[in-house]
Amino acid sequence: MFSVTFDRSAVGEAMGHVELPSCGLIEGFLEAICEHLAQRLLAVREVRCCAQGFEACAFVVAAEKRAPLVEKAITDGAETVEAVVEVLRAAV
Ligand SMILES: [Zn+2]
Repeated sequence: MFSVTFDRSAVGEAMGHVELPSCGLIEGFLEAICEHLAQRLLAVREVRCCAQGFEACAFVVAAEKRAPLVEKAITDGAETVEAVVEVLRAAV
């Protein structure tokens, strides 16, 4: 698992203020690139978004089989990559 941070996101900045991460387009873009490079199925989920008022957009890249855990961590309120990692480690 690793993370990617975008200091600026045109998608997020165009959204205005929203409650949930909103850069789904970038998630798909990153997922396609990372899957191609790794030659395996991966999942990319945005943990925090500039549209929520955070300074930057942060994405977690994990094995596709771990996507449900990542999504649950974010839904349950994880707002940092470290918090998502903690949830994944606790599930092992
Ligand atoms: Zn974003």
